[in-house]
Amino acid sequence: MSSAGLPESFDPTVAAREAFAWHGDVPVSDFKRLADLLVGTSGAVKVSLQAAYSADRQPAMTLKLSAYLEQSCQRCLQPVTVVIDHEHTVAWVADEAALERLDALEEDSDADTVEYLPMPDPARVNTLALVEDELMLSLPIVPMHADCALPVPETVAEDDHPFAALAQLKTLKH
Ligand SMILES: [Zn+2]
Repeated sequence: MSSAGLPESFDPTVAAREAFAWHGDVPVSDFKRLADLLVGTSGAVKVSLQAAYSADRQPAMTLKLSAYLEQSCQRCLQPVTVVIDHEHTVAWVADEAALERLDALEEDSDADTVEYLPMPDPARVNTLALVEDELMLSLPIVPMHADCALPVPETVAEDDHPFAALAQLKTLKH
């Protein structure tokens, strides 16, 4: 279990041009923000990264993530294993203005599968942080046992969910 060779950061344009790829296991304990939402940090996340150009010629990265993570069941508060099997493509556009123009184009053919982000300045993306953002977004809103013994609580405080702010920040397109 090792994240050896995983670059700390990358330039999306260079990565796409070179068709950068990486596959490996990253210890769950390497993801500090994610760890705050878990009841244990044993095990590893299987990570597969593949850089390419998107259909509209933007530098893109496809992330495939799989893991078994332990969260707290929101009914009984006992640990529940959450299965992560997540694939998502992120593509970078020039800046916020380009992102807004894309958002205005409802007919965009990639809208269902590609999430657009503004290119950072300087053009470096922290690899672990990108993977961690995707992991956090792939967690269930309300983790619960499928066959939990306790009854459903009267209200579920979804508004207080810690990912709500993150989801807004990332300007998800669906
Ligand atoms: Zn439960």
